[in-house]
Amino acid sequence: AERLKAGLSKTRANLGGKLSGLFRRARIDDELLEELESTLLMADCGVDATQWLLDELKARVKRDKLESPAQLQQALSELLEQMLQPLEQALDLAHHRPFVIMIAGVNGAGKTTSIGKLAKYFQGQGHSVLLAAGDTFRAAAREQLMTWGERNGVTVIAQESGDPAAVVFDAIAAARARGIDVVLADTAGRLPTQLHLMEEIAKVRRVIQKAEPSGPHEVLLVLDANIGQNAIAQVKAFDKAIDVTGLVVTKLDGTAKGGVLAAISRQCPKPVRFIGVGEGIDDLQPFSAGEFVSALFE
Ligand code: GDP
Repeated sequence: AERLKAGLSKTRANLGGKLSGLFRRARIDDELLEELESTLLMADCGVDATQWLLDELKARVKRDKLESPAQLQQALSELLEQMLQPLEQALDLAHHRPFVIMIAGVNGAGKTTSIGKLAKYFQGQGHSVLLAAGDTFRAAAREQLMTWGERNGVTVIAQESGDPAAVVFDAIAAARARGIDVVLADTAGRLPTQLHLMEEIAKVRRVIQKAEPSGPHEVLLVLDANIGQNAIAQVKAFDKAIDVTGLVVTKLDGTAKGGVLAAISRQCPKPVRFIGVGEGIDDLQPFSAGEFVSALFE
């Protein structure tokens, strides 16, 4: 929880600070509610989530006869937690071996970094891990994964010759032969402006399914928390092509906004399996709605 608080320090200073200022006022009035609305919008909560929060707050003010802004703050933190709770669904690796996780995202979202963090995290949980360097378009991405794998004693299946389908196929076969618990299959990133070019990644998904008929067991989309409402477009585009089953929301430490999770919850709800709160290998945490909301306000 301390690490999360440190990771969210920018959002805490900005959003948390503004909210605390509002809630220190003398009374609840229209002006306060309007400023609350613009504060939430500026924090990337999006119109839907902001509207929902405001409507619920106003209803509670009436129903529970709330008078002090401190009570309003309490109500807001309860509502935020209620809104984010459905996103808190831990990834359960129990039912498949190997458990095949396909990982997608636009370039720069933090895909490669997150794969390293995930491998370390799963190893820490006692699982053996194998990486499939399926981002065959960027030699640098492959090199990065291989270096990382060598340093951490994780096998990386890669190919010079660039057929992502073949890499994934090899990796799943190798994992099966060696009794590996988790396969992390990287896929080629794309530019955020190429969201319509999804045929190639949809094909990788089909190949995984051919190699492992019950899989992929998880399709993780890596999302940068800094991109505001574009996050919604990305979730929808990838979901349409590859049936996203979970999200890794990265760089929450790098943003002062942090409201993107609220927007996701209202506009394109998907389990947030993990959040990234730093560049370090340990800066990845399972998402907890309660911890997240208290880190914002404490
Ligand atoms: P990819 O193109 O999606 O594979 O992105 P990379 O994994 O190469 O990451 C792009 C940049 O984002 C790198 O500089 C990473 O260190 C950085 N990054 C990734 N995740 C996080 C995070 O949670 N917090 C911060 N501050 N930086 C991150």
